Amino acid sequence: MSDSPVTPPSDAARPPLLPPGHPPARLTVLSGGVGGARFIQGLLRLIERTGSDTTVTVIANTGDDIWVHGLKVCPDLDTVMYTLGDGIDTERGWGRREETWNAKEELAAYGVEPTWFGLGDRDIATHLVRTQMLEAGYPLSAVTAALCKRWEPGVELLPMTDDRVETHVVIDDPETGERRAVHFQEYWVRHHAEVAAHAVVPIGMDAAKPGPGVLEAIRDADVVLVPPSNPVVSVGTILAVPGIREALAATAAPVVGVSGIIGADHVHGMARQLLGVIGVEVSAAGVAEHYGARSSAGLLDGWLVDTVDGGSVSRIEAAGIRSRAVPLWMTDHDATADMVAAALELAR
Ligand code: GDP
Ligand code: CA
Repeated sequence: MSDSPVTPPSDAARPPLLPPGHPPARLTVLSGGVGGARFIQGLLRLIERTGSDTTVTVIANTGDDIWVHGLKVCPDLDTVMYTLGDGIDTERGWGRREETWNAKEELAAYGVEPTWFGLGDRDIATHLVRTQMLEAGYPLSAVTAALCKRWEPGVELLPMTDDRVETHVVIDDPETGERRAVHFQEYWVRHHAEVAAHAVVPIGMDAAKPGPGVLEAIRDADVVLVPPSNPVVSVGTILAVPGIREALAATAAPVVGVSGIIGADHVHGMARQLLGVIGVEVSAAGVAEHYGARSSAGLLDGWLVDTVDGGSVSRIEAAGIRSRAVPLWMTDHDATADMVAAALELAR
């Protein structure tokens, strides 16, 4: 037996341990619209506060996209872009600040449907640029990059796919009583998610491919963050793009999420109805179990719940997901930055 001491692993080979809450170099976020954008604002505040050299890549849901009046509208991409580019109407949470609605009124005066979809005059300019570029043959990812040149969101914003995917919801038509599939926007905006819904169907998903850079952003990330975005029609839709789940399973990066459900109810938004449609318990623990532990072919290594849900931490950990309870209200950028720091802490 040799008496030479066991060589400790070289410190040089190990990445330096960052101070708590200090974001690592490469973060990737799977985002919906409003909830995702607010989360990213907090993340950017944390990066600013810690002075860290971090690049953020956002993979955004495009299942909400819709063609209206000949225009391609991408609600979640635009919400993230306008919010981070300081062009959002903060009261409404979507669309442009200082908006006017002349075009919408004129279209309604012609009796052209749909009249329920909010298309502001300033916003229309974005959709005109996008539609023209798409018709000239540019993929949505290139169009998004071009639009972001103006807005400088401070993140790399990637559509989950360049292919056309549209989330539809099977509802009981309130007028005819018949069961039919409507675009998610019609369910959400026109019917306020108040009609009976039976299924959520992402049309076009089978043939969709991840957009350029999406799989690489998951593979090369230091941490993948799942904001409190809608688990069904935002995060769920991104996860359904063929190849994305496999990339999340394979990445060396921990995957950590934040609950959008606080207490027995959802936070602003209508996640409740959609979780019901897919048979998921409307609670922070219910959503964690629905996503599942990465160690058992699920999504998550870690899951933050709000302090009011502290009692469900042990249930979530029993499912193989690290969990902690911290305040999850995104009341301002600093509160959200603290929340993101806790998520990164959980990923360490
Ligand atoms: P959408 O595409 O505009 O619906 O936005 P997302 O899907 O990105 O996020 C919507 C979800 O964000 C809602 O269903 C809420 O559950 C969640 N959310 C909104 N505000 C807050 C908040 O302050 N804290 C937490 N934890 N979740 C929130
Ligand atoms: Ca959305």
